[in-house]
Amino acid sequence: MKENLLISACLLGIKCRYDGRSVCKICPERLCEKYNLIPICPEIYGGLPTPRVPSERVGDKVVMKDGKDVTENFAVGAEAALKLAEINGCKKALLKEKSPSCGKGEIYDGSFTGTLTEGNGVCAELLIRSGISVYGESEIEKILTDT
Ligand code: SF4
Repeated sequence: MKENLLISACLLGIKCRYDGRSVCKICPERLCEKYNLIPICPEIYGGLPTPRVPSERVGDKVVMKDGKDVTENFAVGAEAALKLAEINGCKKALLKEKSPSCGKGEIYDGSFTGTLTEGNGVCAELLIRSGISVYGESEIEKILTDT
């Protein structure tokens, strides 16, 4: 039986990014050979519209480029993603890199200048803390071979 894999919806061509676009950097057909894909967009689940003003993590908060505090939206979306992962028994998640929600290991630094810093997106952080193995889209070969 195939394993369930939580995946950032924008990686599957769903136009849920802040700018109303998708990313489509991966080949879902290859993933589908090994996994049942469970798409999630934590920012949408957190109640934010598409398109939306971009956000970045600033310390413990998440703020939009226009200064609006969206920390609560990001927290709600992350909890929803965790619940979806738990309901579906997902032990792994494949998430969009650099996103303030989905990014793992490296995210934008809160200055809205395109500068990266060490850290995780809010959703990635919660999933990792909850014992789920998080991969970025550049690690697709790894997630295809990891057991
Ligand atoms: Fe993609 Fe995650 Fe951003 Fe949604 S929150 S658009 S799934 S990177």
